[in-house]
Amino acid sequence: MTNHKVIFAKVILPLRFEGEVSYIVPESIVKEVKPGSSVKVKFSGRDYIAIVEEVTSENPNYKGRILEIESIIEKPLLSSQVIELWRWIADYYMCTTGEVYRAAFPSASFNQTVKRVKKRTQTTEKERELPNELSDKQKNACSKISEQLSAGVTTLLKGVTGSGKTEIYISLAEEVLNSGRNVLYMLPEIALSRQLSHRLEKIFRDKLLIYHSGQTASERRSVFEKIMEGSGPYIVLGLRSAVFLPFSSLGLVIIDEEHDSSYKQNEPSPRYNGHDTALVLAKLFNAGVVMGSATPSLESLYNALSGRYTLVELNEKYYSDHSPRIEIIDTIREEKRGQMEGIFSRKTISAIESCISSGEQVLIFRNRRSYSPFVQCIYCGHIPMCTSCNVSVSYHKSKGLLSCHYCGQSIRFNTICTKCGKPGLKERGSGTEMVEEQIAKLLPKARIARFDAETTQSRGEQKRIIKEFAKGELDILVGTQMLSKGFDFSKLNLIIIIHADSMFSTEDFRAGERALQMLTQLAGRGGRRDKEASVIIQTAQPDNNIYRMFIEGNDDFGTELSERKEFGYPPFVRLIKIIIKNKNIRELHNFAAKYTDYLNTADSIRFTGPFAPPVDIVRGEHILNFLIKLPRTKDVRSVKRALYDHTVKMVKNEGHGLKLWFDVDPY
Ligand SMILES: [Zn+2]
Ligand SMILES: [Zn+2]
Repeated sequence: MTNHKVIFAKVILPLRFEGEVSYIVPESIVKEVKPGSSVKVKFSGRDYIAIVEEVTSENPNYKGRILEIESIIEKPLLSSQVIELWRWIADYYMCTTGEVYRAAFPSASFNQTVKRVKKRTQTTEKERELPNELSDKQKNACSKISEQLSAGVTTLLKGVTGSGKTEIYISLAEEVLNSGRNVLYMLPEIALSRQLSHRLEKIFRDKLLIYHSGQTASERRSVFEKIMEGSGPYIVLGLRSAVFLPFSSLGLVIIDEEHDSSYKQNEPSPRYNGHDTALVLAKLFNAGVVMGSATPSLESLYNALSGRYTLVELNEKYYSDHSPRIEIIDTIREEKRGQMEGIFSRKTISAIESCISSGEQVLIFRNRRSYSPFVQCIYCGHIPMCTSCNVSVSYHKSKGLLSCHYCGQSIRFNTICTKCGKPGLKERGSGTEMVEEQIAKLLPKARIARFDAETTQSRGEQKRIIKEFAKGELDILVGTQMLSKGFDFSKLNLIIIIHADSMFSTEDFRAGERALQMLTQLAGRGGRRDKEASVIIQTAQPDNNIYRMFIEGNDDFGTELSERKEFGYPPFVRLIKIIIKNKNIRELHNFAAKYTDYLNTADSIRFTGPFAPPVDIVRGEHILNFLIKLPRTKDVRSVKRALYDHTVKMVKNEGHGLKLWFDVDPY
């Protein structure tokens, strides 16, 4: 019997588990076990690799027998900053650290028998390419940002498309790499990272690592290991999940296209925002931050206005400074005058024709995929719905299917109406597939492709279409918002937006801000080198204020900001959406009523709800939402914690088949 003190380790298991789990640290490994260590443990009779969160001599306060750690594993070994980041994510996004652990290690268990991935040697024989020489304006911007970085102030770099933000990022990254620290370069979308990675590879060669969810597990693991071994410094080009890499040093975080809503993860938990999490990561490492966009988010502009960020503007295009010509076409008026051919106005068609005949390219944007968003019976008005979701099914003509975009279920299309029995089902509305078909009929000689979630399911297809368009082998590209992001097409000279009003038809309080960002981003795709591009907007609401702002190049959201302040929207309050689901609708409403009672009594909580979302049945589960508004006061953390704890307890005791989750900063 030795009289040494028993040491306990509080651990994080890769489970969605509420509450704390601790193990006894065997004496033989007491010196090795520390926060961030990986250990083998048994939990409910199963083996897990757990991450040690805390080591303490205090007896953990929980029921049941406390087991011993079985063994310690050499890897992964996480830095204290990483553990702190996990805790922050769980706290802020109202989930468990176990869920964060699972997100950080997506390939289930990271074990020590991982085969080393062979290092690729693709760029060694090629000459290293030097970055482009910076223009005077870029040099100015760069030195201003450097100053801010060393003063620890975040910079918002606002520069129109083509103004050369990337060159500035490259120059800043080189500086930090030379000082021996890692750089994290964040992008919102895989397609963008593919385009940029070629360029960065030529400059940074084997210092460049790429990390995103589209890679294979072994590719990701290889990056993970390199970062963990600390053999760098590296520049990591990554999507939002790159915030989970096991950094032990970090000197600079670049957040490009910072306004982009794809930084937010909606499913599964943790429902985190990669942009905001990267800011916290940078803070933990004392790293500098520069974020950039042609169309910064209202929050970031607000932070710049209020002095929290420094705003650096880059208004001159690197190649040319022709702004787009914009034309608004009133489709209702054109229809009355007999000037519409299906979904296109005659003016639009002749603009397309003259663009193509002068050897240039056209992009047609439609914010809706499929052939038609729904079908309807011409005899009885019946609209076929998905059998397990409360939403109409979309018609995909080339596949002959009616599909649900919520659950993915499809049935064969047949004109016979299931309600009246007559052959009356006809397409309504127009998606990208119909746009493609109509333009092909109008201009039979044009070379046309479609770029949306359906035609780009494989990585190869997506690459192929973009490549063909970039090489001038296509005349017209029809696509969804996937096209608005960062692509650079030098021969693109006409951008057409069909049914532009659909950009506003959402419940999102940011609809106006997002629509203006989308228009500006789309316009930025064309006319990059030497010629001004044209933008045609087909709309049934030509007087909408957003179009006026777009034409004037005005992004002064002063009125919008004061409205948000008055009505209580971000950045003035914090929003938390609470989603509850149940197959049993009575149980759902019972819980909602009890939960409403609780929220009514809770301090400093304003809320609306319960309300049904636009699609309130998905996969047979009924859905209700609550929207919580929290003031941005100092005690917001403890208010959230109390809300979380109480809610979890209520679900456990009174849930009866209920699923509930929190979505913090949902929009
Ligand atoms: Zn019918
Ligand atoms: Zn469905």
